[in-house]
Amino acid sequence: MIWAIVSGEKVEALPKTKGICPACQEPVFSKCGETNIWHWSHFKKTDCDLWNEPESLWHKQWKLTFGKDNNEIRIDKDGKWHIADVLTNNKVIIELQNSLISKTTIREREEFYGERMIWLINGASFKQNLIVKDFWEDEDYRMIKSLPQKPVRWIRKKPEIIKGKNDQFFDWKRPRRSWIAVERHIFIDFNCDKLFWVKEGMGTNQIRGTYIAKTDFIKKYGGNYEYYNQHSPCPL
Ligand SMILES: [Zn+2]
Repeated sequence: MIWAIVSGEKVEALPKTKGICPACQEPVFSKCGETNIWHWSHFKKTDCDLWNEPESLWHKQWKLTFGKDNNEIRIDKDGKWHIADVLTNNKVIIELQNSLISKTTIREREEFYGERMIWLINGASFKQNLIVKDFWEDEDYRMIKSLPQKPVRWIRKKPEIIKGKNDQFFDWKRPRRSWIAVERHIFIDFNCDKLFWVKEGMGTNQIRGTYIAKTDFIKKYGGNYEYYNQHSPCPL
């Protein structure tokens, strides 16, 4: 968590400080070491939202890009609650994902947050496994069928999409298979100024998508691009 309530104010972690978690109202203490980014930690781990990931610089910069009042927001639904990483003014939830995640957790989160949720995942640790594929330049669908690798479902079902001019295809070595369960829009962050919006094949050996400028993404969801640009940990 990057926020806690100290003397009635929502503040970032400061050395040797105690506060209250704005989500569960339990006491927290600051962790301000030299390796990890400064954050707040619960005295008892089970007190709060178990979906929370360890805080990283990547998380923090994205959260702060959307403003102090739009991140780490408690969402209550059907007697349960979770902390959304980002809740935009237009009520879109952006879930930031840095580490591995199971299929079950992906499904649970999507069901809990509903349709107005998107994923933004940090691709820095696996971008070297994605290899650009340029077969579509031939505009020949048969070539794909002759590939030694079994075509993935989107190629068989919708050959016409292969001619999408802005589409980019990747071969993904050792894909993170759990993402096959994803049903919401998903954006991968592995580039300083663009996001890769995955349209099909997430979690398989072949993915199709398109690059979008981070500035457009941030603007669309009401964030502050200038802030992001000044603070983003580029090169990723
Ligand atoms: Zn808490």
